[in-house]
Amino acid sequence: MLKKSLWLGLLLIAGAAYALQKAGPLRGAWAPEQVASGVYVIHGPTELPSPSNQGFMNNPAFIISDDGVVVVDPGGSVQIGEMVLARIEAITDKPVIAVFNSHIHGDHWLGNQAIRAKYPEAPIYGHERVGPRVIAGAGTEWVQMMLSMTEKATAGTEVVGPDHPVKDGDEIAIGGDTYVVMNNDKAHTDTDIMVLVKERGVMFLGDNAGNGRILRLEGGSFAGNIEALESAMAMGASVFVPGHGKTGGQEVAQTYRDYLQTVYGAAQQGVDEGLADFEIRPVLLPKLEAWQAWSGFDIELGKHINGAFLEAEAAAF
Ligand SMILES: [Zn+2]
Repeated sequence: MLKKSLWLGLLLIAGAAYALQKAGPLRGAWAPEQVASGVYVIHGPTELPSPSNQGFMNNPAFIISDDGVVVVDPGGSVQIGEMVLARIEAITDKPVIAVFNSHIHGDHWLGNQAIRAKYPEAPIYGHERVGPRVIAGAGTEWVQMMLSMTEKATAGTEVVGPDHPVKDGDEIAIGGDTYVVMNNDKAHTDTDIMVLVKERGVMFLGDNAGNGRILRLEGGSFAGNIEALESAMAMGASVFVPGHGKTGGQEVAQTYRDYLQTVYGAAQQGVDEGLADFEIRPVLLPKLEAWQAWSGFDIELGKHINGAFLEAEAAAF
């Protein structure tokens, strides 16, 4: 009897998980832009997830090689992943042969589900700390967060995390290209990889940089993020794809590095001079004019000053 009621309970839980009907497809034309030979980026909005953008806010990308297609960060829902597949299919009939996920934040990788459904054999690469954390609950948390921020526009999205762990220095040969993996311990988070597609001179920065968008840094590090961007700039790439906002040249990495350096430098100076963190803001603000119109600036600045101050304080001991 006990066994029977246990089964009933499990059935009820499973039923609840599937009670949400899959939401409709992603709206909008979202044309892929070719940023280098065979490399395409679908530049998403630089907003937070909302009902109107249906959770689409990142830069899904794909590389068409001789053997097939490599996808980077297929977006924050199954609907976005399906849109990415449709855009790929409009350009090539080659299959998807690999996926890279830049870090733990679900707005970048929940779209894996769509790729896995169509190409179950394609490996999904992510930093070695991502997979275990997804299984430990971060995946479900992200599914819930996207559902609530979009008022269920992402319904039907399920957790499919990366299953091929990678780490700093790994070089993966796919379709005639070399994918160089870079990780700097803590940067935007402690799970970031930047990926250089060596032969094509393209550097995927993940959320170590935004362009026109200031990114959260909880669980990350100013010093580490600055260092990561400096190593990215030293790799000889000519095209830099940020996690959010437009692709460009080296200035994409440099401008974001400058923002982080300006905030962190002011915090370090404040710590040296014995200021409290609230005294840093008025000194810092005039130096941040170049970034004041970026989305996320008003939301993140207070938290960034706080985080930079704590980090500078800890580093001073
Ligand atoms: Zn992120």
